[in-house]
Amino acid sequence: MADVVLSVLAHPDDAEFLCAGTHFRLAREQGWQIHIASMTPGDCGSVEHGPEEIARIRRAEGVRAAALLGATYHCLEEHDLLIFYHERPLERITRLLRTVRPRIVLTHSPADYMLDHEMTSALVRAAVFGAPAPNFFADRGHPPALAHIPHLYYCDAIEGKDAMGRPIEPGFRIDIGTALETKAAMLAAHVSQRDWLLKHHGMDHYVQSMRDWSAQRGRQAGVAFAEGFRQHLGHGYPQDNLLGQLLGVC
Ligand SMILES: [Zn+2]
Repeated sequence: MADVVLSVLAHPDDAEFLCAGTHFRLAREQGWQIHIASMTPGDCGSVEHGPEEIARIRRAEGVRAAALLGATYHCLEEHDLLIFYHERPLERITRLLRTVRPRIVLTHSPADYMLDHEMTSALVRAAVFGAPAPNFFADRGHPPALAHIPHLYYCDAIEGKDAMGRPIEPGFRIDIGTALETKAAMLAAHVSQRDWLLKHHGMDHYVQSMRDWSAQRGRQAGVAFAEGFRQHLGHGYPQDNLLGQLLGVC
């Protein structure tokens, strides 16, 4: 069976900004299966559609974007600006981990620009730790507990800074030059978001901002485009940099 990488990020287009290039390379170069999950269907990401309608649109965009990689998209059906550290989302992430059984898990930086990202990071950290424990959510009809804790990595914070504006430097970078056009096509599949970001953030360069950020991370490493990551190295988590060994660091 192919190895599996799973990203669990807050919103349907976060993977395209933060880790789709790394997904692409694991799929193309290593034959890994790719799973992309968002905590919410992006139900606040519109000024023209109601929450149910935009959620429906954005789930479909998530599926279309993932399909460009041959990846599977999952929505954990929490709600925008209402991602909390509590039992329901923890159980949903744990169930997903036990279902797709990843060797590598990617999530948000523990410090980021908004709380949905930070809460998702904490939830994924805990679920990854709990998923191998058989007594954790023992009575919920999950697939068997994982054999061990997967390798856990944090993506870059948005714009590489925390909420105080302090820079967060990656522990290592992955060269995504071969992946950039697919990453851009995936982001462009989130058609509803260009409109929303223009109206809410005054940002009329949805795909360009991803290109600019990838180029900035690349420049720091002497390559055209890169994605940055930090590995969770707390007690009990794998200590070897499997992602770096597979794809090379820059
Ligand atoms: Zn987000």
